Amino acid sequence: MSFDAINEYRKTFPSKQQVIEQTPDPGVRAMLNHLDKAGIPTAFDRFDAQKPHCSFGLAGTCCRICNMGPCRITEKSPKGVCGADAHVMVARNILRWVAAGVAAHGARGREVLLTLKKAASGELALPLLGPEKVLATAKAFGIYQEDKTVAELAEQLADLLLEDMSRAVPATHRTITAMAPPERVETWSKLDIIPISSYHEVFEALHRTGTGTDGDWENLMKQLLRCGLAFSWNSVVGPSIAADCLYGPPKRSQIETNFASIKEEYVNIALHGHSPVLPSALVQASRDQELVDLAKAAGAAGIRLYGICCSGLSSLYRYGEVHPLSNSLGAELIMGTGALDAWVADLQDIYPAIMDVAACFHTKVITTSDSCRLPGAIHMAFDHQHSNMDQILDQAKDIVRLAIRNYPARQKENVYIPEVSIEAEVGFSVENITQAFGSLDELAALIKSGKIKGIVNLVGCNNPKVVYEQAILQVADILLANDIIVLTNGCASFPLLKLGYCSQKALAKAGPGLNEVLGAQKLPPVWHMGECLDNARASGLFRALADKSGQPLTRMPVAFASPEWSNEKGVGAALSFRLMGLNSYHCIQAPVQGSDKVANFFGKDTQDLLGSVMVVVTDPQGLGQKIVEDLEHRRNQLGWDGQ
Ligand code: SF4
Repeated sequence: MSFDAINEYRKTFPSKQQVIEQTPDPGVRAMLNHLDKAGIPTAFDRFDAQKPHCSFGLAGTCCRICNMGPCRITEKSPKGVCGADAHVMVARNILRWVAAGVAAHGARGREVLLTLKKAASGELALPLLGPEKVLATAKAFGIYQEDKTVAELAEQLADLLLEDMSRAVPATHRTITAMAPPERVETWSKLDIIPISSYHEVFEALHRTGTGTDGDWENLMKQLLRCGLAFSWNSVVGPSIAADCLYGPPKRSQIETNFASIKEEYVNIALHGHSPVLPSALVQASRDQELVDLAKAAGAAGIRLYGICCSGLSSLYRYGEVHPLSNSLGAELIMGTGALDAWVADLQDIYPAIMDVAACFHTKVITTSDSCRLPGAIHMAFDHQHSNMDQILDQAKDIVRLAIRNYPARQKENVYIPEVSIEAEVGFSVENITQAFGSLDELAALIKSGKIKGIVNLVGCNNPKVVYEQAILQVADILLANDIIVLTNGCASFPLLKLGYCSQKALAKAGPGLNEVLGAQKLPPVWHMGECLDNARASGLFRALADKSGQPLTRMPVAFASPEWSNEKGVGAALSFRLMGLNSYHCIQAPVQGSDKVANFFGKDTQDLLGSVMVVVTDPQGLGQKIVEDLEHRRNQLGWDGQ
């Protein structure tokens, strides 16, 4: 990409004022104005202050790997001091991002796997609420034995999943062998990209991107694909299985969401981050009668929980009661209500900035992971060895007690809650979708007939490079109008929850086929599947529908879209779906434009290797139309049009 093109791209970044004028949620708009008046800056102010963004950073052509640099690619200096050209520099940078994504999702997933192991061995007093998942997965992994208890099988399963995550000695990848479509395993084997383990591939990615090691951009891309498979199978699928074994399957339910679901008369506790482990215990603690009585004695009506980012979403679809409020980019806006008595921050997408907003109110921030500390926060965490995990319920109760003690400190004059709220339906899974349609054959037949034109997993984070939450809704509008079902999870799901898309009323936005089919089933047009780890549910549904249709996934009219993606995990998530042979669609450029070779690898070459590409259209409506056209093309190729 030329400097001029980067310059043009930078010009598309909105200002905070544009966000205030165009962001679709009136509650967000009201809160941005409120904080503006109060002189409390947010990510949107800081984004404006960063302008103009560094063109080398946007193109991926700066390198800080060794201390002979930093080096950057210009006409005058087409190579770094070591001789790395633009292609090597860009490839190394993006590979390091993907490796970081594997580590991020993987670290959260490891905590779930450890919890399953400890619960199954009796070290942790947690019941296994998903025995069916344990048995079904044990059978898929070939470890089922009639004379073994569910707990014994669960422990063996946890050990296998941990081994796939951490082995150093090359051996069969059990999760991929047991769970991946055979056609994909063959494709990946031919490309020699099946990972040894997450730990090894991240280790190797850091090794080969180091000074003077891998100087071949194509070989670096090969390692990127290995990391993509580690992301998908070790960081996402394995922990998703473990979470269902531990906490049971999702249940469909209704929940009130958005600002006005915050009730001033309650002790209010926000759950922010990504681990489902402590939030599950906090739900139990918030139901404890002794603590409810304590809250009432403090003058509150009870205890209420709220979800920020992915923590909370996983508890919500299993237990109800956790009101989803915001993705991570909007966390400061929720903190700015002044109505939260405790803010429990576990790990990932917890911006340091929340402490600056918390300092303006009475809100106590409690950090609960050894990986995530915030100066000024109270630290009540699992230790580095997870040796105190057996005290999880006591820890959760201590946090709730702290929130109750802090409730009287809330200053009513500082509370501002925009008057917007809505009911949304959550908790979709492959199992309950199958139940809703009677069988997946039925849903597959509706897709083949053209009543439903396809399914898109519309997910990802948010990014101030586009108007906050607008791109997600604009893409959703186009998909629904074209009879395409939308699946969602994680940060992107918040605008869909808050603006009514996860409700049957949103069928008014759907095309005639979708309206008829989903109206008859009393289903919303957007199926909320949980937190970002639940991409595993979307890929599971896609796989099951491909099997029912007798087609490889690479031919199915389904896709992945993360219009507003913003971080390393986002690159990994999109890559996971491309490795399955499904295109990924985005409004945000990846920093690969500084190398035509690497950019083409993402946007063109992987079509031959994997049957899929990364598509970037910075205009959300253009992106929505492109997805519709591409799914239509897939339908044409299958001969499914006009049926
Ligand atoms: Fe420069 Fe090479 Fe060092 Fe990177 S690794 S900073 S390109 S000398």
